[in-house]
Amino acid sequence: MDDIIEIKNLNKFYGKKHALQNVNLSIGQGMFGLLGKNGAGKTTLMKTLATLLPKKDGEIIICGIPIENVKEIRKIIGYLPQEFSLYPSMSVGEVMNYLGILCGLSAAERKERTEMLLQKVNLTEHRNKKVKTLSGGMKHRLGIAQALLNNPRVLIVDEPTAGLDPEERVRFRNSLSEIAQDRIVILSTHIVGDIEAACEDIAILNEGKVLYNGTVEGLLCAAQGKVFAKAVEKAKLPQLKRELMITGMHTQGKEVHVRFLSESGDDNAQACEPNIEDAYMLYLRESGAYMPLSDQGSGGEI
Ligand code: ADP
Repeated sequence: MDDIIEIKNLNKFYGKKHALQNVNLSIGQGMFGLLGKNGAGKTTLMKTLATLLPKKDGEIIICGIPIENVKEIRKIIGYLPQEFSLYPSMSVGEVMNYLGILCGLSAAERKERTEMLLQKVNLTEHRNKKVKTLSGGMKHRLGIAQALLNNPRVLIVDEPTAGLDPEERVRFRNSLSEIAQDRIVILSTHIVGDIEAACEDIAILNEGKVLYNGTVEGLLCAAQGKVFAKAVEKAKLPQLKRELMITGMHTQGKEVHVRFLSESGDDNAQACEPNIEDAYMLYLRESGAYMPLSDQGSGGEI
């Protein structure tokens, strides 16, 4: 049976709120990134795939199994929610053993899978530590390890990098990339850099609609020739923010170096190679979903 998730014409309502609007996606093996601002519908989609929320209409087939077959779907899915609280007074090893029992694994299977998974997420040397003493990143990695106990064909990870320091984020992403070598991993985030570093195929969700579905490379290609940079006096920045779509800036002495989107640049600007943040913002703008930088606080560093 092929490792593929097919989502067709999916809608989801919370009362009158149309949280997912006619979503169509096809997700194959490897790491798939679901990108979107807060409120875009990412968690709703993840929870629907994990059978934690019922769908209104449309069709979802996961590895050949219709989503209505909840019992079979749960056998092949591992889910790591945004808010994941483990058992603070248990050790890492005890948590894995306990959850392994709940999964129905034998003692031998629990031992073997715990060893293999703790190694995979770099927690072997911490197996005797109590959960409450782990860093945020370690807890997330333990979350991944427990979600893999039943060796699922699909792993769904919702917004994992919130609250992680940069080093922990990189470790976490690396663990996921390795895990995605032989299964489907869906990673949802609002952090554009996480997607660029880890995913080949992505979807951008905005207000419940899929704005883009394709490769990271395809997204970058669409932004070729539309990204420029120039240095301006600090005093001119407020005006510039109104005139240009700025995707990044950093201050150097009395000047600010800004990176912006434009069809043609201007005399003082240099063309730049687009990064995924540029491409993402361009996509939002072209779909009418862009919020001007002056309304968002400061822009990112170049
Ligand atoms: P994301 O994960 O991208 O931040 P969500 O899926 O959590 O987005 O939310 C999508 C939209 O649905 C948001 O407008 C949110 O306010 C709304 N929403 C989410 N959960 C509920 C709920 N239980 N009841 C009502 N509205 C909800």
